[in-house]
Amino acid sequence: MRKRAPPTRPPNEVPALPPRALGDVRRLVVKVGSGVIATRGRLRPKIVADLVYDVTVLRHRGCEVILVVSGAVASGFQSLGLSRPPTAVLPRQAAAAIGQHKMMAMFARLFAKHRTEVGQLLMSADDIENRQRFLSARHTLLELLARGVVPIINENDALSDHQAIIGDNDHLSALVTNVASAQLLVILSRVAGLLEGGPAERVIPRVEVDSDVARHIRRELSESGVGGMVAKVSAARLAANWGVPTVIADGTQPGQLLRIMAGEEIGTMFVPREPKLSARKRWIAFRTRSRGVLVIDAGARRALCERGASLLASGVRAVEGDFPMGSRVDIVDEERHVLAIGLVSYAADEIRRLRGRREAEIKRLLGYEYVKEIVHRDELVLLAP
Ligand code: GLU
Repeated sequence: MRKRAPPTRPPNEVPALPPRALGDVRRLVVKVGSGVIATRGRLRPKIVADLVYDVTVLRHRGCEVILVVSGAVASGFQSLGLSRPPTAVLPRQAAAAIGQHKMMAMFARLFAKHRTEVGQLLMSADDIENRQRFLSARHTLLELLARGVVPIINENDALSDHQAIIGDNDHLSALVTNVASAQLLVILSRVAGLLEGGPAERVIPRVEVDSDVARHIRRELSESGVGGMVAKVSAARLAANWGVPTVIADGTQPGQLLRIMAGEEIGTMFVPREPKLSARKRWIAFRTRSRGVLVIDAGARRALCERGASLLASGVRAVEGDFPMGSRVDIVDEERHVLAIGLVSYAADEIRRLRGRREAEIKRLLGYEYVKEIVHRDELVLLAP
């Protein structure tokens, strides 16, 4: 195995803050972004070799590491003769079919140097939504770990259609922490962490998951056309619902993962709130993607966030998407902050007819009434403070 000097601290850096307590973490999910894996269509084996080294060291210390790796599209599009990652569905799927095996070949070769096997799992939304498939994914994952194999997971991009799409690997990695009951999520990309707004661009070292960070979030997407800081923060919030902290850090620097695990203040750590959610609410939060959006007014926002109330039709301003009853939706305020996610009691077209109206009018407007709430409080998980 290659030797490397321990990471040194630049001389005039501020003295270290108390280390983050990650010493007890025994199982972690590490999400590696497309920008770390490939740049302008080419794989980056040097950077990935450093990461593989870090994973190997952690494994020798008794940690189980699950990788969620992006970059199938980013490392496959060139082989299709394209000059940038395609945005249309079919060329993306074709690029992913090529890039996925190229990436895996690189990982297999780099891990083989450390006499380690890798196993590939390609997941789709159904593997999370369907309880049996969820359990089957979990069992496979645990079996690989028990046998000392490093699981490498990606979305099954070559075959995912838009009905069953997870969409971005930040989200997938949060789901995988749940599938694997991991204790930590590390999201490695090309950004150093959540940057404080303003010219200094200082990385915010620690964020309580409930705090409002909207002003620090830039809207850009990653090179692969998905993800970006919005997706990372939302993944961190999901993982927090499971009691799992998330660290968002730059994955292009060697040794980052080991330094993070040693408790150094690298990147931004999202600290979960206590107490944890009930099993049912976790399941709501950890199901795959939302199928639509409900925009609510200020009164409903207060009712949800301050009084823990259900969402009623009167507070709904707009409905986006087309979804059946029982679907997961994002509940956002008029400034588009995601306040909560929940399962709807009515379908999108029914909610469109009911929006802004009182409960007493449901029967008259629809001709029937199942329940009075659009999203019942028991089916609602608050994300914002
Ligand atoms: N699964 C996609 C890929 O491998 C990437 C999704 C993402 O970057 O979040 O290309």
